[in-house]
Amino acid sequence: MKTLVMKFGGTSTSNVEALNRAADIVVAQHSEWDRMVVVVSAMEGVTDLLIECAEGSLSKDKDRYQVIIDQLRNNINVVVRAIFSGDRSYEKLNALNNTRLQELTNICQRIQLQGKSSPRDMDEIAAMGERINVHVFSALLRKRRVRCQAIEATNLIVTDDCYQAASPIQTATDARVDAVLPPLFAEAIIPVVTGFIGATPNGTTTTLGRGGSDYTAAILGVSLKADQVWIWTDVDGIMTADPGLIPRARLIPEISYNEVYQLAYSGAKVLHPKMILLTREWDIPLWVKNTFNSECNGTRISHCSLTDRYTISAVTGLSDINLITFRTIPGGNVNKIKALIRAALKNRGTTTLAVFQAKHDRSVSFAFSANNSNHVIQTIREDGPLRSLGWNFSQPQVIENVALITLVGREIYLTPRVLSLATSTLNKAGIDIKRIGNGTSPDSLVFAVANKDGEHAINIIHDEVILNDPLISPITQPVLKHLATN
Ligand code: ADP
Ligand code: ASP
Ligand code: MG
Repeated sequence: MKTLVMKFGGTSTSNVEALNRAADIVVAQHSEWDRMVVVVSAMEGVTDLLIECAEGSLSKDKDRYQVIIDQLRNNINVVVRAIFSGDRSYEKLNALNNTRLQELTNICQRIQLQGKSSPRDMDEIAAMGERINVHVFSALLRKRRVRCQAIEATNLIVTDDCYQAASPIQTATDARVDAVLPPLFAEAIIPVVTGFIGATPNGTTTTLGRGGSDYTAAILGVSLKADQVWIWTDVDGIMTADPGLIPRARLIPEISYNEVYQLAYSGAKVLHPKMILLTREWDIPLWVKNTFNSECNGTRISHCSLTDRYTISAVTGLSDINLITFRTIPGGNVNKIKALIRAALKNRGTTTLAVFQAKHDRSVSFAFSANNSNHVIQTIREDGPLRSLGWNFSQPQVIENVALITLVGREIYLTPRVLSLATSTLNKAGIDIKRIGNGTSPDSLVFAVANKDGEHAINIIHDEVILNDPLISPITQPVLKHLATN
């Protein structure tokens, strides 16, 4: 049975125009597929406000959380009133939203009284945006006479209790999906499911990490053995750089899971990294498409890539990074130290963004987001295997305020031409390169530069290395055609 899971992000559901376009897309697609599931995120900005609200309930300003809840109520009401006012569903939707906002108020009051919040409270609060929006979007679809049912993913996606970054328990999820969704498909009803959230086996709400609605679509795609997963957002697809930062960025019509994973892992927030791993594992073709330009095909992500014959696909960046450098004493084995540090960090679930090794001074540097840095040093100090080596390497040196600029492309790290072109471009612009290395795969090439140089570095790498490379230019042709017709 032809099955499609599609997800609309916050950018595609946060105002009347966006919601109407998303609804148009569902209407246009639903006769094309035997089974279709729609995943919806919270409206853009709502999850940020909810997190602020949770933090506000612990602030000295006692009214802070209430002010934010009023702002949330107002933002949601503006959209709901514009679409549904005068409609039968209006009162019902208002009542539902008020119930959710009252629940939110109660949790915040409790946190304020107790003077502390738990990770579990944080997830209960962060989940409200999706729980509200799923009803808004399904009411809109019903207004278009689409048969659908809003479903909270707490009834579908079973996770561990790692709040704020829960992982799905796929077999338990498969069983729930199998029990809940097929009866709806049999009645030609489209399930409209909350993104971002799940629940532990005993029913406590969890969230899958920021941007996690993409992950929801992949998890459901695996359970349903979907033919395709489509991610609808506010840009034409995966581009050669973040078009929010570089308007000259061009669409990449086709890219591999590996490359797009490196992009997402290294800062491009267009897709959640874990969803890419999951769709790759189950070989589910993934598309990124533009809700506001649905005529454009978007980007197809699969095992192969249009860049198979070329090298560079895109550039991305991360700022506020700390580099922690270890030097071995003369005769020390830097490879062994590197492997042990990696293992110690992996055991503690700490994400290393890049590793740089310098043979000349027997050093190895690890890149982390700045707020992880103390925890990392502590972890390494306490690690048994490293201690048993007699800590035979120097005390770590920490360089703060670093940006990582990552170029992504098939086996780019092994391509001397790209390395020399990118290095000379940065040198010519007077940008000091602190380190060069590969991120976590040969598909990425990472430059560590000062934070203040980060944006400039991305701009010149994009314009002078990616767009100017004669081997790259064939990629841009379909995009130029697309731009010419829009
Ligand atoms: P959504 O709400 O739809 O999930 P996100 O904001 O999470 O949207 O992701 C879409 C955004 O990702 C785009 O608006 C764009 O600014 C950003 N982005 C970053 N890097 C890229 C890239 N290489 N290609 C496309 N978009 C990118
Ligand atoms: N609403 C959640 C967030 O803002 C999930 C998502 O948008 O994918 O992180
Ligand atoms: Mg997103």
